[in-house]
Amino acid sequence: MRIVALAGGIGGARFLRGLKEAVAPGDEITVIGNTGDDIHLFGLKVCPDLDTVMYTLGGGIHEDQGWGRADETWSVKEEMKAYGVGPEWFGLGDRDFATHIVRTQMISAGYPLSAVTEALCDRWQPGVRLIPMSDDRVETHVRITDGQGTRAVHFQEYWVRLHAAVDAEAIIPVGADTAKPAPGVLEAVAAADVILLPPSNPVVSIGTVLAVPGIRQAVASAAAPVVGLSPIVGGAPVRGMADKVLAAVGVDTTAEAVARYYGADLLDGWLVDTSDADAVQGVEEAGIRCRAVPLMMTDVPATAAMARTALELAAEVRG
Ligand code: GDP
Ligand code: CA
Repeated sequence: MRIVALAGGIGGARFLRGLKEAVAPGDEITVIGNTGDDIHLFGLKVCPDLDTVMYTLGGGIHEDQGWGRADETWSVKEEMKAYGVGPEWFGLGDRDFATHIVRTQMISAGYPLSAVTEALCDRWQPGVRLIPMSDDRVETHVRITDGQGTRAVHFQEYWVRLHAAVDAEAIIPVGADTAKPAPGVLEAVAAADVILLPPSNPVVSIGTVLAVPGIRQAVASAAAPVVGLSPIVGGAPVRGMADKVLAAVGVDTTAEAVARYYGADLLDGWLVDTSDADAVQGVEEAGIRCRAVPLMMTDVPATAAMARTALELAAEVRG
């Protein structure tokens, strides 16, 4: 079976770890990763979501934090600070720095991000094929109004530095309109037996992947069933501030509203948490097959059970 998953960072990566446990030997998983979170820092290209997937599946992630490397040290950051060179608000540890140096070196030598990601994965052996959504630069910006007036800030500045404490007025995936899907993306979607939308952020993770011209249409028109899992449980994000970016696109923070935001043209099936069982009827009325099951990724077995249910729902809608 060929499975394609679109993914952001932590929510996507943790789901994929369960999915790997749920599939049969010989099944292939292709992950199309969000690169709208990418940022240039200290002259280096940093791809937070790709790295979170790579480190999580490759066994190098800082478990409790969910991002960055295990057993990290911070000497480079301290030295940069001593020179008065920031930003200080973005956590790049020494081990993590090496990844960004290798990536930047290869990009400077002319390799596209997809080839660089493949090379980084040679080390990490994530057990999935990880492809960035695009080799072209896409950067998610957020329009805010604060003491400095109305302006657009980089998504990382909004999320990490400002902790999404001010309202997001608009989410702009700068560059997405002219970006091309990376080599292999459309091919993988067309050849898929199942397409999964993990419980990643629907706006700034999955939404950004779908904003690359051609990808949304390919997923919506693919022969494979498309099944998603809600990142919203009991009317709130399980982790992070997804409610802020949902509000910016006029979507309520509920499992049903997120399903309707993706739309019945895209989704064939949708899983909500058992605590949101009352959302099932509304989702089905929107034309999307829906089931309520436990959706908390407390450990790998619980996450694998979620992935199995998603695959079962896919088989059901396909049948
Ligand atoms: P990011 O790029 O690191 O923000 O990660 P993603 O976009 O891949 O995933 C973020 C989303 O994962 C958040 O909106 C969370 O609500 C969701 N999430 C995190 N843990 C869980 C969980 O255990 N269950 C569910 N259903 N969603 C989760
Ligand atoms: Ca992200």
